[in-house]
Amino acid sequence: MIIKQRYKKLWILSRKIFNSYFLSLALTLTLNIKTKKFKRNIEDFTCSECGFFVEGNGYTNHCPKCLWSKHVDINPGDRKSDCLGSMEPTGVEVKAGEYVITHQCIKCGFVRKNKTTKDDDFNLLLNL
Ligand SMILES: [Zn+2]
Ligand SMILES: [Zn+2]
Repeated sequence: MIIKQRYKKLWILSRKIFNSYFLSLALTLTLNIKTKKFKRNIEDFTCSECGFFVEGNGYTNHCPKCLWSKHVDINPGDRKSDCLGSMEPTGVEVKAGEYVITHQCIKCGFVRKNKTTKDDDFNLLLNL
């Protein structure tokens, strides 16, 4: 009789461990989906500066024709800023072999550095 009770306790304990394991697994999965959403944000937009239609690739954050950007992120990719001011390209620097544009919001002064893409107007880039 005592042995049976012990088994019952053990059974309840293992059920608890099992349940919490699945709960944490489900949580991890949810977090992963959220992270994916955070990183890739495919969207097309029309440049508010020059009117060029920019096809989004998930990482697009500025217009390749005039290099202007829009203040939509607080942290890269989160689209959480409600400023929506135009961001002027104020300078360019080379970092680890890559060109990085400095954008400054003309509405609130927020400064952000953005990697360039192969589609960016290279002549314009060099003249910054
Ligand atoms: Zn543009
Ligand atoms: Zn701003």
